[in-house]
Amino acid sequence: MPKPAERLNRFSEYVFARLAKRVAEVEKRTGRKVLGFGAGSPDIRPSEKYLAAFAAAIQAEKAHLYPGYGATPAFAEALGRWYQKRFGVLLNRDEVVPLLGAKDGTSHLPLALLDDGDEMLIPNPGYPGFSGSLIMYGMKPVYYPLTADCRLNVAAIEPLVTSRTKAIVVNFPSNPTGQVATLEELTAVVAFAKKYNIVLVYDNAYAEIAFDGYRAPSILEIPDAKDVAVEFGSFSKTYSFAGYRMGWMVGNADVCRALLQVKSQIDSGMSLPLQALAVVALTETDLEWHEAMIREYTRRRDIIAQKLKLLGLTFELPRAGLYIWARIPDDAPSSEEFCMKLLEERHILLTPGSAFGSHGERYVRVSICVNIDAIDTYF
Ligand code: PLP
Repeated sequence: MPKPAERLNRFSEYVFARLAKRVAEVEKRTGRKVLGFGAGSPDIRPSEKYLAAFAAAIQAEKAHLYPGYGATPAFAEALGRWYQKRFGVLLNRDEVVPLLGAKDGTSHLPLALLDDGDEMLIPNPGYPGFSGSLIMYGMKPVYYPLTADCRLNVAAIEPLVTSRTKAIVVNFPSNPTGQVATLEELTAVVAFAKKYNIVLVYDNAYAEIAFDGYRAPSILEIPDAKDVAVEFGSFSKTYSFAGYRMGWMVGNADVCRALLQVKSQIDSGMSLPLQALAVVALTETDLEWHEAMIREYTRRRDIIAQKLKLLGLTFELPRAGLYIWARIPDDAPSSEEFCMKLLEERHILLTPGSAFGSHGERYVRVSICVNIDAIDTYF
């Protein structure tokens, strides 16, 4: 084959692809299954009600047609009603973009907002999906620090702003830390984005995965946030639809238009059966299923937490999201070595915190999206 593009040398393999290969190698060599607390891939079967609705939607008369680029009227209306009920936020039709998962948004929005060499502020530690695509495109991630307990601190971000800064990404409930944000912190970051005239990209993919009575806000609850902000949402975690690839971006209409323009060159929209499924999920939510899912994640979180203490890890229990963010013992050489030793010796996979940025060193991320029926045989 001819030499592949130079840009492939700018970024390394996606961290979870790399870890999956390592796990396969260990399993093949030892013949023993690895208990993987790596990826945040929801394993709980979706509600039967949604599966039936999806099956019916595939059979519909025009289901096979190209769906068009934006939202169907039914999708936009359903999401609008859901935002109003859930967050007290009103959305216009031109403030809604259906996505093939939130990652479709995180990876393509830079093409709509940044030119070559422009900068985007990215949380450190943060979801690797925020920076990999930027680097691939020849744009520049500028990593901003969080407080010691992984909260947002606008004062620490201000010195990083340059004339090339075009946007800031903020993600709470956070992957990887499980930390959440207060309305005061969100108000401060909206004011920050307005002050520097940059776009605020709020990733709210974990808004509906909350424990112990916690309720995650939307950035659009902040008055006039739509002047500068857009928000990503995802069906992957909330409904266990990760493989179906469904999400949205809502907020500033100019940014929505710009993203649709980019996406019109890249994909051909969210299929009609998936948009029909989204309408059912948003408007006829199976509350019983959702409550059972949260109960199950809470149960797993608490059992996994007990086991992690046996490994000498220290952490706070997360109030939202799908991860425990834990500090490794002081005598461990690094988060990568800690994880690789655990994988080799005990067939347990955790993700090294360094995979989420330099400030993730000395930490590991532990996914609670794991069937733990056999957990006792590993600890
Ligand atoms: N944003 C964050 C913070 C995530 O952790 C993830 C997935 O793990 C995504 C976006 C991607 O979600 P989706 O499956 O909707 O593409």
